[in-house]
Amino acid sequence: MTKIVDLLTHGRTFSFEFFPPKSDDAARELEKAIAELEPLRPSFVSVTYGAGGSTRDRTRDIVINIQQNLGITSMAHLTCIAHTREQLSSLLEEYRAAGIENILALAGDPPTDGGDYPHELTYASELIELIREVGDFSIGVAAHPELHPRSNGDRAADRRYLAEKLAMADFGVTQFFFEAGHYLRMVEELADLGCTTPVLPGIMPVTNAGQIKRFAELAGAEFPGWLAERISAVADDPAEVRKIGVEVATDLCRELLDTGVPGLHFYTLNRSTATREIYANLGLAP
Ligand SMILES: Cc1cc2nc3c(=O)[nH]c(=O)nc-3n(C[C@H](O)[C@H](O)[C@H](O)COP(=O)(O)OP(=O)(O)OC[C@H]3O[C@@H](n4cnc5c(N)ncnc54)[C@H](O)[C@@H]3O)c2cc1C
Repeated sequence: MTKIVDLLTHGRTFSFEFFPPKSDDAARELEKAIAELEPLRPSFVSVTYGAGGSTRDRTRDIVINIQQNLGITSMAHLTCIAHTREQLSSLLEEYRAAGIENILALAGDPPTDGGDYPHELTYASELIELIREVGDFSIGVAAHPELHPRSNGDRAADRRYLAEKLAMADFGVTQFFFEAGHYLRMVEELADLGCTTPVLPGIMPVTNAGQIKRFAELAGAEFPGWLAERISAVADDPAEVRKIGVEVATDLCRELLDTGVPGLHFYTLNRSTATREIYANLGLAP
């Protein structure tokens, strides 16, 4: 039984994020990635939750399976938009009964299909309150160094909401970014607001340029010109793209570790190679 908040008081955490697969082939890929990453002894792993509950059972089953059968501390992502309080409470009860102690509390994105959805909770901060009512969980929240995609560029309001949310939670995990300055500026701005809750930087190695550019657009993260130039120079050679992606992510991790970050959270996209290479470059592999 391990709470991430306790791990963070004892030192840095190194963690991996997965998403629930949609097909049998994808499930085998995830299984392979977990088997290959397990020897790196992550502090914890986390599994995303499809907005509106689209992956409810799959997320739950993977989180519980990893924790109970592999003995790796596992964190369930949970989004509150388009759920009733009762639906959320009953899922949290299931986690509690299964010994899951860590939840990443998220608002999630509002459904765009015009359907008739319950509208009981709107913000991640409301979900934190509900989680605390249900049980003694360690609670993480999302942080966006380059501002939340729904912030409309209002930096002061974005940082104020983020600081309030972090004050209610135990730790944060960031959206990915490619320049350490974005993360460091966010931490400084939070400190100015009196918020010192640890925030783990999220690392996304570029392994497929088109895909990551699309993700960056959705996440409100800048895909910097210098990186685009390096990648486009080798665009026809997937192995070279991956090599540059790993090199750039390694440099970013080194810079962040040098500034004293509380840990690193890797977006694995259910693959193991890039994360294993970065680990080896950083001398982190056991
Ligand atoms: C590490 C990480 C993991 C993620 N995992 C998932 C996942 O598993 N599934 C998924 O669907 N998405 C996930 N996301 C994406 C994230 O959930 C989306 O950005 C989502 O749109 C909003 O969730 P939030 O928790 O960031 O929202 P919130 O923190 O609730 O903020 C939403 C917006 O409302 C504003 N706001 C907050 N409080 C108030 C208030 N009181 N009044 C007015 N405005 C307010 C905020 O500034 C922000 O603009 C993840 C993001 C990160 C960084």
